[in-house]
Amino acid sequence: MTSPESDPVIQAIGLSKQFDSHNGSLSLFSELGLAIHQGESVAIVGPSGSGKSTLLSLLAGLDNPSTGDVIIAGQSLTRLDDIARARLRSEHLSFIFQSFHLLPELSALENVILPLEIRGQQNAAAQAYHWLDQVGLADRQHHYPTTLSGGEQQRVAIARAFATEPTLLFADEPTGNLDDQTGESIINQLFSLNQQRQTTLVLITHDNSLAKRCDRTLQLHNGQLQPLQHEERPQ
Ligand code: ADP
Ligand code: MG
Repeated sequence: MTSPESDPVIQAIGLSKQFDSHNGSLSLFSELGLAIHQGESVAIVGPSGSGKSTLLSLLAGLDNPSTGDVIIAGQSLTRLDDIARARLRSEHLSFIFQSFHLLPELSALENVILPLEIRGQQNAAAQAYHWLDQVGLADRQHHYPTTLSGGEQQRVAIARAFATEPTLLFADEPTGNLDDQTGESIINQLFSLNQQRQTTLVLITHDNSLAKRCDRTLQLHNGQLQPLQHEERPQ
């Protein structure tokens, strides 16, 4: 649901990102701007290498832009120090990474418990178990990431992101490693969080059925985000 009269929950202003290496420098985004309101669901699409993952990292405060700023819940990320930014992330944001980023020395359950403990949440273990069960992995709770398939690791990462009931949930190809049936169940849970808790969703996806369920789709093209109409979407 969109509430355009309120302030955006996340806003990007004049973003650019430059990577310098011995092979030369690469400039992504030119004065990129974006505003997303609480409870909106937004899909970001674009060709491989267009900068989608980099953009999500900037929006979630995991990386710093070369120019511009990201404002989350009224707070400028570039003005916060590392500790304040980490606290803001812990309190409000969840991120489902393309490569999962599970901690290998922790079991599936412990991976989901960790962000809850960092927040000092009561009943962290019970809450973590509930979300592992929701993604169909209750019987794998004591398994370590290396003993889980790619799809199972992705589901642990999803349970971890859901468990903290974030204000803003960022996901980079959240269904990329899942079969159709599991993917649909996960997508249903994403949108159930969105509808029941007003969780704002920012999703990178190549999955048309996922993009179509979002309130709007933005395409990253020539360093800018452009609205994409349903009928323009690649099949
Ligand atoms: P996408 O997710 O759309 O496939 P990425 O954001 O991963 O694109 O990458 C966009 C471009 O930026 C790619 O050409 C990639 O090689 C480059 N890139 C990403 N991260 C770095 C980095 N840390 N250093 C140098 N180049 C990078
Ligand atoms: Mg990517």
